[in-house]
Amino acid sequence: MSAASAIIAPGSTIGILGGGQLGRMTALAAAVLGYRCHIFAPDLDPPAGQVAATTTRAAYDDFDALARFADSVSVVTFEFENVAVAAAEFLAGRVPVRPNSGALATASDRLREKRFLDRVGVATTAYAGVAGAAEAVAARAAIPGPAILKTNREGYDGKGQIRLAPGDDVAAAWRRLGTVDAILEAMVDFACEVSVVVARGVDGGVASYVPAENTHVDGILATTRAPARIAPAVAAEATRAARAVADGLDYVGVLALEMFVTRDGRVLANEIAPRPHNSGHWTIDGCIVSQFEQHVRAVCGLPLGDPERHSDAIMENLIGDQIERFPALVREPETRVHLYGKTAVRAGRKMGHVTRVFARGSLG
Ligand code: AMP
Repeated sequence: MSAASAIIAPGSTIGILGGGQLGRMTALAAAVLGYRCHIFAPDLDPPAGQVAATTTRAAYDDFDALARFADSVSVVTFEFENVAVAAAEFLAGRVPVRPNSGALATASDRLREKRFLDRVGVATTAYAGVAGAAEAVAARAAIPGPAILKTNREGYDGKGQIRLAPGDDVAAAWRRLGTVDAILEAMVDFACEVSVVVARGVDGGVASYVPAENTHVDGILATTRAPARIAPAVAAEATRAARAVADGLDYVGVLALEMFVTRDGRVLANEIAPRPHNSGHWTIDGCIVSQFEQHVRAVCGLPLGDPERHSDAIMENLIGDQIERFPALVREPETRVHLYGKTAVRAGRKMGHVTRVFARGSLG
């Protein structure tokens, strides 16, 4: 057996960069398979640390702490893409890092991501890279309709974005964005937004969940419905696109591809999330093997589980003060409530989610 395909056995410790709810749910799934997790995060009392064997509190550029972390784990993964690529590259010299740091670099830069999607044959909306006010004006001439200017890096959940209507002052928008590089995208008049969560193992095998349909409020995911209400050919194209991304990145682990479905049935990729994704939370309650267990299986070199759903599902995020609905929700016997152990409530903060399951086939 080659080193690349060696199994990391239960009992070993998985290192996770990042301490949020995705790390928390990954650590819970890892525990079911007999693994320990070591969380590395700069925050005080990270949600993932509450359910992990060990937590290191340090900055992502603290290379001494990263070296000690690498020595204490058998494999490293991450739970959000804004982890410094430099940290992932440093760790990769010492311990397997899955997914690879190149995938992280591609997914954490919107322009690089769009160019990668072009290369692997996945369609996107019209876009142009922008570095400076003059380039913003030129890009706007090429993409004149409703558009959206986004920072290339560290924008997520609708942050770092300015929407532009025809006639809006693009140079002023560029200055307001306050960045050095950005991307201008044509606004898509979509029929719906969908995502496909796909796992890819060390042997290159893939397993994808059924496309899910997402709604966003203020750029933040509000609800996911699985399966999405789309034609079979559209679902097949969305699935093909997600698999092409996983193969093209030589990916190991779970990723999500977020896509728009246009009114004429085209599928346009918006964003790659190189990690388990909020739109895959329904798989905990709707599938035998959740996206989090699938991620653990992939990064540990285990065979992937079956991604088929046993139930249809609707997932609803609890954002900010929606957490106050907890007493009522927990009284609904058929609603699965998941809370992330966060004490401070802030507007836009993901505090938990609920999933309601339905007989398979009843929502599709
Ligand atoms: P993002 O941060 O790129 O995932 O954007 C957050 C949300 O903003 C998306 O899920 C869409 O609802 C909306 N959005 C972003 N880019 C576009 C676009 N080019 N056309 C239409 N809606 C968009």
